[in-house]
Amino acid sequence: MILLDSSFHLQFTGGTAGCVLAPRLSENPKNSVLLERGPVVDCWRSSVPLVSSNFSDQKAPVYKWQSAPLQALNGKQLTMVTGKALGGSTKINGLIYHRSVPGEYNAWQDAGRKNWSWQHVEPFFKKSEDSLSHGTSPSHGTKEPWQNQSTKKDHFPSVRTNIKIATQFGVSLLTEANDPGAPVVACTSLDAAIDRGSHRCSTDAAFLPRSLVSRRRNLDICTRTICTSLDIKDGNPLEVNG
Ligand SMILES: Cc1cc2nc3c(=O)[nH]c(=O)nc-3n(C[C@H](O)[C@H](O)[C@H](O)COP(=O)(O)OP(=O)(O)OC[C@H]3O[C@@H](n4cnc5c(N)ncnc54)[C@H](O)[C@@H]3O)c2cc1C
Repeated sequence: MILLDSSFHLQFTGGTAGCVLAPRLSENPKNSVLLERGPVVDCWRSSVPLVSSNFSDQKAPVYKWQSAPLQALNGKQLTMVTGKALGGSTKINGLIYHRSVPGEYNAWQDAGRKNWSWQHVEPFFKKSEDSLSHGTSPSHGTKEPWQNQSTKKDHFPSVRTNIKIATQFGVSLLTEANDPGAPVVACTSLDAAIDRGSHRCSTDAAFLPRSLVSRRRNLDICTRTICTSLDIKDGNPLEVNG
């Protein structure tokens, strides 16, 4: 059990989003505590893009469970998987860095999600990003820790053939997948969360490098810690159980 009073920031889970938030919250001198059920995973396997995407590997930092029986699959259950490590699912995911199209966010706002329009969210994408391939574009960031770059689209002859066929059918060929003005259906190479050194750029590696964690005295990261419940009582310290 951990007791926290109002001089603490408490963060549950050090997954994808948790690792982005931790350095920002701990800029405030209040003590920050981050709890993550998985371990710190920092080895060559976890940084090689394709090797680390193999979530069926015995050693992959994942949590697996069976879905409920799915009616659409005649009652079949599927194995579900999610990241279980500092960095969360960015330790094992398919690396694709894609923001979707502005219309999707505008539809959220239209459905009542205030401040979720493209105009509102675009600055937050830029606020975390270092776009190595499209840095000159006004819709990308270049100064923040999360690096991404375009995947080379023409490694294989079959890819070149597919591009040729698609464009003959009138599908536009784009240089940038995350251009907010791009058509929804297009032929383009994707951006991937791969850093300058060709390593997986998971959010723990990008936002919580050892150099920052050792400097930030007010930030405590507790890995292999499962949070099981929270007790919130008026006027008393918050009780976190795990
Ligand atoms: C196999 C796979 C491939 C994917 N490919 C892509 C892709 O190519 N591009 C893309 O954009 N998205 C992809 N996604 C989706 C994307 O990775 C996730 O949507 C995103 O990482 C989720 O971030 P999150 O912060 O919400 O959760 P997560 O990153 O999953 O973090 C949640 C964290 O909470 C921790 N946790 C949970 N419960 C507790 C507890 N009780 N106590 C303490 N800690 C706890 C977990 O260990 C985990 O680290 C993929 C996902 C998977 C699983």
